[in-house]
Amino acid sequence: MVQQPGDRIEARCSRCSDCTGHIIMAIVNGEIVKVKCCACGSEHKYRPQRVAKKGQEGTAATAVRRIGAGEDRKTVMAEAERPARAPRPAATPRPSAATRKAAQNSAEAEQRWRKSLERPSAPEPRPYSITIELAAGDVVNHPVFGMGVVESVTRPDKAQVLFRDSSRALRCTVV
Ligand SMILES: [Zn+2]
Repeated sequence: MVQQPGDRIEARCSRCSDCTGHIIMAIVNGEIVKVKCCACGSEHKYRPQRVAKKGQEGTAATAVRRIGAGEDRKTVMAEAERPARAPRPAATPRPSAATRKAAQNSAEAEQRWRKSLERPSAPEPRPYSITIELAAGDVVNHPVFGMGVVESVTRPDKAQVLFRDSSRALRCTVV
């Protein structure tokens, strides 16, 4: 079968870094000279599909990655489709110093929260309401924030309560 402009062929696309479907745009002396990539739409010189050379047989096999435990299928597929030549971006961007500090602070806060709740002298948790009478050391069970420990109170009606994720100022009755 003789190929002619408008026919579809597989060819290498440098923009896609892959073999993709192309439409033949021009043929000179029976040779395809120009094609248009169906994937990215770029027109370029025809490059035949790369013939596997010695030592490259494994290249195709790596594209068929097994999905490991805990890996999202979509992620794996996206990685498999990514051209091998492009440098793979880091899985997670390096956290900034501020982010690390914040993470450390919240980890410390959670430790503090856990310790306060588990201390032997911790009173029974009481359901939180804005009229609850609180003193430092009390334990409340908040419908949204969960268990919290009263860090301090301010007359007439403020309590600083440490919850698992952060410390919050809540309304209460200070006696
Ligand atoms: Zn392309």
